[in-house]
Amino acid sequence: MRQELGDHAVVLGASVAGLLAARVLTDAYRKVTVIDRDVMPEIGAHRRGAPQGRHQHSLHPRGRAVLEELFPGFTAHAVRAGARSGDVLGHCRWLLAGHRLAQVDIGLPGLIASRPFLEGRVRAGVRALPGVTFLERADIVGLTTTAGRRVTGVRVRDQDGDLMQVPAGLVVDATGRGSRTPVWLAELGYQPPTEDRIEIGLGYATRTYRLRPGALGADMLILTSGTPANPRMGGLVTLEGGRHMVTLGGILGDHPPTDPAGFEAFTASLPFADISEAIAGAQPLDNPVAFRFPASVRRRYEYLPEFPEGLLVLGDAICSFNPVYGQGMTVAANQALVLRRLLARAASPAPGRYFQEIVKTIDPPWDFAVGADLALPGVPGTRTGKIRMTNAYLPRLLAAASSDVSLAAAFIRVMGLLDRTESLLRPDRVLRVWWVNRKKLT
Ligand SMILES: Cc1cc2nc3c(=O)[nH]c(=O)nc-3n(C[C@H](O)[C@H](O)[C@H](O)COP(=O)(O)OP(=O)(O)OC[C@H]3O[C@@H](n4cnc5c(N)ncnc54)[C@H](O)[C@@H]3O)c2cc1C
Repeated sequence: MRQELGDHAVVLGASVAGLLAARVLTDAYRKVTVIDRDVMPEIGAHRRGAPQGRHQHSLHPRGRAVLEELFPGFTAHAVRAGARSGDVLGHCRWLLAGHRLAQVDIGLPGLIASRPFLEGRVRAGVRALPGVTFLERADIVGLTTTAGRRVTGVRVRDQDGDLMQVPAGLVVDATGRGSRTPVWLAELGYQPPTEDRIEIGLGYATRTYRLRPGALGADMLILTSGTPANPRMGGLVTLEGGRHMVTLGGILGDHPPTDPAGFEAFTASLPFADISEAIAGAQPLDNPVAFRFPASVRRRYEYLPEFPEGLLVLGDAICSFNPVYGQGMTVAANQALVLRRLLARAASPAPGRYFQEIVKTIDPPWDFAVGADLALPGVPGTRTGKIRMTNAYLPRLLAAASSDVSLAAAFIRVMGLLDRTESLLRPDRVLRVWWVNRKKLT
């Protein structure tokens, strides 16, 4: 049953997670204020608070579907404005764990553009909603509470350095990896969450190009993942405005260089030559830029015995995944749907219930990413029996998926966060993997 609208909700952070939270909060609150320390730029432009925006950002099919649900017509509008849409298998070259997946249309549309473009279009959608205000150039410095038990708003330092209070019936923290909620909890006398970490020591370097006409054929993306023998990865994606972006990645300190010659040499060292060939003779549009991602971090709010009412956490502030798997925006989108469902029952959902529901959006992508990271020798972490078994099986599945379209499609659906990893372990699929690989040997 829809209960009465709340008066005012505040979202901390105007990045993808915060914007999607704001979108669903407008269903339950008359006014929603989104606070960020950045000045929001025009669509497609970079900003300091989201430095990852200079690097490749793929939106998985599940994430695209949620954006479509929250902003009907999102894909068509984005394509009209210059984004590329195409089939996630038919128009993408997946070169995974040393295997080239079969390439055929499977009727699953993907949407490709730069991260500032995608974020900017979501922001424009949120800005257009009644009751939404953006408070920019505002540094969030703390919470206000009633004797530490209920959060009643936030304290903010504005651009002139003045402190002010913003009262709210609900505060949603979407300030990303650097979220201060664990510190604020400790200050209020609560236990902060424990953290799970996978130390991956990832380094990215990214450069944009204008490719030779026809250099990519009809494809819109190439993704080369690492192998245990050569864990270097690279991606080439089509951006709005006829540009292409190459992002290279290396783990455990084997970081791609940012000088142009070193960048090209790293590209040539990837397990497949497709990206190197595509950028041969291309016009570079900038110099390579770097990003360091030391560890995937998951904060276990669901284990806490107590948590103040009136505060929720969402997006990278709860869990930031190894970006190689391109999951963060889609997970944030799934979390926004959880929030929407709970808001339909109560304008200030009980935090315990909320975090129990949020876990369901994190477990599958976390297990997928951690399992894949632990397939790479040298990445520290416990390799459980399940992880070892899955990691022994997946290369065989990918080998079979290089010629078998149904297996390629099944894998892409799991990677696209539409299906769970367990679906790949169905007896009929295991049998098919065995049969396809056996046929190749005979
Ligand atoms: C290199 C890299 C590549 C990635 N590639 C992909 C990809 O391909 N696909 C994908 O889905 N995801 C990808 N991700 C993850 C994705 O960027 C995030 O999951 C997504 O942006 C959601 O993050 P968020 O909104 O929770 O936090 P963030 O994007 O980190 O945003 C936090 C916001 O809070 C603001 N803020 C923080 N602290 C304060 C404060 N005290 N006061 C005021 N404002 C504050 C910041 O300015 C910022 O706007 C990648 C991440 C990285 C690092």
